Amino acid sequence: MVDRRIYSFGNGEAEGSASMGALLGGKGAGLQEMTRLGIPVPPGFTITTETCDEWTKAGQKVPEALLPELDQALERLERASGKTFGRGDNPLLVSVRSGAAVSMPGMMETVLNLGLNPDTATALGRKTGDARFVWDTYRRFVQMFSNVVANVPHEPFERALEAAKHAAKVKADTELPAAVLERVTQEFKDLYRKHKGAAFPDDPRAQLVAAIGAVFASYWGKKALEYRRIEKIEALLGTAVTIQAMVFGNTGPRSGTGVAFTRDPSTGDDHLYGEWLANAQGEDVVAGIRTPRPIAEMEAELPETYRALHEVKATLEEHYRDMQDVEFTWEEGKLYLLQTRRGKRTALAAVRVAADLLRLRKIDLREAVSRVEPRQLMQLLARVFDVKAIEQARKQGRVLAKGLPASPGAASGPVVFHPEDAEKAAAAGKPAILVRRMTSPEDIAGMNAACGLLTSVGGMTSHAAVVARGMGKCCIVGCAQLRIDEDENRFQVGERIVKKGDVVSIDGFTGEVFLGELPTQDSEIFEVVQGRRNAATSRVFQDVDLVLRAADGVRRLKVRANADTPQDARVARTLGAEGIGLVRTEHMFFAEDRILPMREMILADNVPARKAALEKLLPYQRDDFAGMFRAMAGLPVTIRLLDPPLHEFLPETDAIQRAVASRIGMDLTELKARVLEHHELNPMLGHRGCRLGVSHPEIYEMQARAVIEAACVVASEDVVVRPEIMVPFIGVAKELEILRKLIVDEAERVLKERGERIAYTVGTMIEIPRAAITADQIARHADFFSFGTNDLTQMTFGISRDDAEKAFLPDYEAKGILPENPFAVLDQDGVGGLVRIAVERGRMEKPKLKCGICGEHGGDPSSIAFCHKVGLDYVSCSPYRVPIARLAAARAALG
Ligand code: ADP
Ligand code: MG
Ligand code: MG
Repeated sequence: MVDRRIYSFGNGEAEGSASMGALLGGKGAGLQEMTRLGIPVPPGFTITTETCDEWTKAGQKVPEALLPELDQALERLERASGKTFGRGDNPLLVSVRSGAAVSMPGMMETVLNLGLNPDTATALGRKTGDARFVWDTYRRFVQMFSNVVANVPHEPFERALEAAKHAAKVKADTELPAAVLERVTQEFKDLYRKHKGAAFPDDPRAQLVAAIGAVFASYWGKKALEYRRIEKIEALLGTAVTIQAMVFGNTGPRSGTGVAFTRDPSTGDDHLYGEWLANAQGEDVVAGIRTPRPIAEMEAELPETYRALHEVKATLEEHYRDMQDVEFTWEEGKLYLLQTRRGKRTALAAVRVAADLLRLRKIDLREAVSRVEPRQLMQLLARVFDVKAIEQARKQGRVLAKGLPASPGAASGPVVFHPEDAEKAAAAGKPAILVRRMTSPEDIAGMNAACGLLTSVGGMTSHAAVVARGMGKCCIVGCAQLRIDEDENRFQVGERIVKKGDVVSIDGFTGEVFLGELPTQDSEIFEVVQGRRNAATSRVFQDVDLVLRAADGVRRLKVRANADTPQDARVARTLGAEGIGLVRTEHMFFAEDRILPMREMILADNVPARKAALEKLLPYQRDDFAGMFRAMAGLPVTIRLLDPPLHEFLPETDAIQRAVASRIGMDLTELKARVLEHHELNPMLGHRGCRLGVSHPEIYEMQARAVIEAACVVASEDVVVRPEIMVPFIGVAKELEILRKLIVDEAERVLKERGERIAYTVGTMIEIPRAAITADQIARHADFFSFGTNDLTQMTFGISRDDAEKAFLPDYEAKGILPENPFAVLDQDGVGGLVRIAVERGRMEKPKLKCGICGEHGGDPSSIAFCHKVGLDYVSCSPYRVPIARLAAARAALG
């Protein structure tokens, strides 16, 4: 049972407050709060959102019980304003304003100047002695009331006003004389009668009740419904209605109206930012009737109002401790505030405002963290196109094709089709966009040299996508419209042919490929991280750094990075990584001098021959690991033992097979036969991961030795090393039992040989559903778990990612079968369910079992929130995602 429907405010007293947004709407609550703060606000009262709900449920009828309360509130408003509603020498005019708990800008209706009729108009004329003002106000009211309350369309009113201006030979409506405005008002009333078949209502109280109903109704209007659907705004009761004494910006040149942000909403700079118009009312500023003027120009013309506005800015910011967006009006120089709300802002402004307020200790760490969204941080980190240039290019039809946005950023340059050409371009200091059907590990150097990558096949985890994200490089994959002919150095889209050297631009945020050049710029933060710019000279870097350090003070989850090279590791560390969660050893084997012994090892048909080949690989691995340990001095480094099916390393083409056969002294026919033997029907579910370790213990033995030897070498340099050896693809506890013993035996052998003592751990990836379900058994042999959520997602859903992303996943998303791509955003119910089970069961066996995630999900904000919730110890993501993960982890901790 509703027992109270109205809350008044005025003259410094308020029955409501900012915390009552759900009941009074954002606007109503803001007015109450400003009144409390002593900011000049015209008095008024707010009818609750609950009343709107009653109205809706009663079949859109104003509830009887509201009326006595309304009369009381009106009386109170009369006292507060010293005016009388609908009668007397000093008539009260009011605005009837909409405002729900969640802001829906411009989606609902408002009526201004309500309470006018021939009598009150005459009284107002006598009181002000300003006929122009009275008729200007009256014509505005008739038009707004007709439109909002009686649904009479705008156009005939606009036409009538235009005709009057034309006849009077003036451009602006402020120039219309009183007599013309009076005639216009009458014409407007006639228009009302013509459309409604009844006279314009002259009883102010009837006007008011009708307007209240119309504002309630606007909550259910088409615009508002559509907006709520798109913005996913649910579970609101309706709109509140605020009835407020009018203040007039249209009394002449010393009056006016404006809108402002208390800080610059695009840069976050600490100065008032907004626009104003003299002799204007309400929405004139945004309606584009006249050109509004920047706030800075107010100072010279209206110094008092300008100063008052600055005082309000200070009061509001002190109170809300955030940037506000305000509406104001001044009447004969006297300023009134009509609205305040949290100001919408760009990524840059969000970070700057949070950092500035944190520096001044206006907000604490938690608050600072809650003010910046991970996506905004992402925008600040990536290389970007000029926004205007991109819009123009779209309009000009320069979008060639669209693929999957695999790695954010922007790149522009001549296309090349071979990695060597990208390297040549880089050597000459020129940009190049590497276009390939797909990439493979041999292309790494060229990929690194290119400024952007574009492929026509493959999904979000294709080699190109994963590598590009790791490098922080802009990349589009799976751009199926491109027909690429690498041999001819060209690609075709429809009729258009793009040849080597032609310039294209690729947008890694949207997946769009543009013909021609678009201006781009590196993010400043990126320049600092790369050491090309001094941190002290970059304000945005300082700001981001401060917000991230605030995040570090709030989060529980640790953040690590996935990195395969010391250089990546250093970048990760600069960005705040607290360890490496995944070193993939196999990438190292593709380098030119190593692939040969690798192939020799795989092709060997007996153990001594395999061991001999492994012997050659050992020093390489040891050096690589040592490099990682040095880069991450003092921090944990998790090294994953060999994972991919061996076939991936073998030569495919006849030419390379011949070359390999001759270099390792093997008969070509035999080599071909051995390559065939390694062929698997379903390699991703085949002979890979720990299964290789079981079949060929000497491989993991060599790797364990390399890890521990590297640790000894680096420790002897007085660097603290914390090696963690990780076994991939475990499904059965026994596998890990056997392999753990093998690894520990070898490790102990090395330590004994060297007479060293170094602490190391042995753990496993959890990426097979069976491992998750039997986590308690597996935990017996594991010092840690690391969730490989890419494979775990593939196996939980029973889908292969690359195949799914190019075939049916988009359709599944479109049909709402899956809310999102589960490879980008962790499926919390299914895959997440397994993670939860594994953590629970693992810790049943070992309460302190360290658990982390090293799948790509480790860099996705909502997935990170889940990791926090299920009690993981850390997330590990690609180096350039580390800042995002730090922030997301902190926001997760705030709940
Ligand atoms: P919206 O939510 O569309 O901004 P508002 O209710 O805020 O609608 O009002 C529309 C315009 O009218 C705003 O510019 C506001 O400042 C102005 N306005 C509203 N109430 C009054 C009033 N009592 N006196 C003067 N101007 C008002
Ligand atoms: Mg407004
Ligand atoms: Mg895996």
